[in-house]
Amino acid sequence: MKEALFCIPGRLNAAKEGSPLIEVKNLSKRYGNVEAVRDVSFSVGADQVLGFLGPNGAGKTTIMKILTGYHFPSEGSVLVDGISVEDDPVEVKKRIGYLPENVPLYGDFTVDEYLAFAADARLIPRGERKKRIEASLEACALGDRRSRKIETLSKGYRQRAGLSQAILHDPPILILDEPTGGLDPNQIIEIRSLIKELGKRKTVILSTHILPEVEAVCGRVLILNEGRIAAQGTAEEIAGTMKGGDTWELILKGAGAETIKARLPLLGGGPGIGTVENAEDRTVRLSFFVPAGSRKDLVSGERIFDWAVACGFKILGMNRKKLSLEDIFVKLTA
Ligand code: ADP
Repeated sequence: MKEALFCIPGRLNAAKEGSPLIEVKNLSKRYGNVEAVRDVSFSVGADQVLGFLGPNGAGKTTIMKILTGYHFPSEGSVLVDGISVEDDPVEVKKRIGYLPENVPLYGDFTVDEYLAFAADARLIPRGERKKRIEASLEACALGDRRSRKIETLSKGYRQRAGLSQAILHDPPILILDEPTGGLDPNQIIEIRSLIKELGKRKTVILSTHILPEVEAVCGRVLILNEGRIAAQGTAEEIAGTMKGGDTWELILKGAGAETIKARLPLLGGGPGIGTVENAEDRTVRLSFFVPAGSRKDLVSGERIFDWAVACGFKILGMNRKKLSLEDIFVKLTA
């Protein structure tokens, strides 16, 4: 007897036990000689949006294919709702909606026909189909395009059709591989807000090589490089572990570079001097780095102002730059 893929248990195993919904331990994957994923461990709780960020070839798609039960690990273990992807991929697939990078859409089908076909493939019982299709169309704001052939839709709407297929069986987990790839800026904004909305009720893992995407959509990020995790956590946590901090840039007048450099220790807080140079109009450009942590609090705009006044310098410009996810990404993957 065929097993229906639609029926998600009312209460998830992991929720019952208070354990993570997805648990990946020491995962490695080899394709012949290629080590696509190397000793990767992470976990994801319910209703989190996790971003896989990494350059092409970092291993993002491979991890997603393993999570969705389409590839098996070479080493390590992957549990989805406490179920091993190797032991019971069918049970795992019930809990996951997957939007592959190049979702196979059938251009000749209307959106309605495509979803009916997907409902068939998922073995959703006839009595449930209408309800599930309507709910998916509504969640993806696709109702007004339901009678259009997929080949006549814009790329943004095609992506919505792919997403509506992924959520058709109302899975608690969504895995989206480069969901905004190839979309124009307006379509990207629309799909991102759709994902954010879905993320309120579902656990979402999405992959991207676009940094603002992670900052816009994901609560947590896992930076991958050459199959390994280079960093994971919230953007702030990663900045903290990267010995992040603030770079201050000042334009000062009233003394030469040497004098200003000599007075810098009076500022306190132990900033590391970046550059001090004489510039045009007898100004001095000064930049210094204040590492994250307790000392960071000792240097503030107000304190810099007081220091400048006490030393007899005029501040003509002051700018504070935080270590951004972009800086971190370049440092980790360059
Ligand atoms: P990403 O999604 O981050 O771009 P992938 O997981 O697609 O990375 O690929 C990781 C590495 O594994 C790359 O070197 C890629 O060429 C290789 N790879 C992926 N799939 C296969 C495959 N089916 N056979 C052989 N090598 C593969």
